[in-house]
Amino acid sequence: MKEVILDLRNELRGKLSPQRYEHTISVSFICTALAMRYGSDLYHAELAGLLHDCAKHLGDGEIIKKCQKQGIQLTDDERKAPAVLHAKYGAWLAQYKYGIEEDEVINAIRWHTTGRPEMSILEKIVFVADYIEPRRDKAAGLSVVRSIAFKDLDECIYLILKNTLDYLKGKNCFVDSMSLEAYAYYEQIHKEMKGEQ
Ligand code: FE
Ligand code: FE
Repeated sequence: MKEVILDLRNELRGKLSPQRYEHTISVSFICTALAMRYGSDLYHAELAGLLHDCAKHLGDGEIIKKCQKQGIQLTDDERKAPAVLHAKYGAWLAQYKYGIEEDEVINAIRWHTTGRPEMSILEKIVFVADYIEPRRDKAAGLSVVRSIAFKDLDECIYLILKNTLDYLKGKNCFVDSMSLEAYAYYEQIHKEMKGEQ
């Protein structure tokens, strides 16, 4: 096993709550499983999975302050719903604190909450793994989403975004416009696949 992975695990174990750490390890292994299925780099997948929530232990106000301090620009949507910001700040930490050099790993962390149109394979893998990892039991439609994850990644992302947006709208929560853009993009692929156009 690569030393980097062990060092990161030790570091994160000290920072994250036991539940968050367990989720982190679980996501990193599901990332490697999906990387095996879809022919992606296993090390990069494990690394991105390990670091995807590396800023999640920080409160919203704290993350906003840290972003301002580091000159990280925030969108109006991110100010309205700062829960997504741990992805943006996590990507910054991965690069500048944990020394990750691979853009594809940094971007997979960056987009793991909202998704975005035209995600890379690794971005898709982390996005999906975060939703389906085996410790999760509350997300909507989990059994269907899990069964599709290893068959069709784009269809899986469409379902996750659909379930997440339905859930947020049902609770009258603000939705980041990037999630809406991502949904429109993957819904189009879904319709084309079904021949609905
Ligand atoms: Fe997260
Ligand atoms: Fe997560």
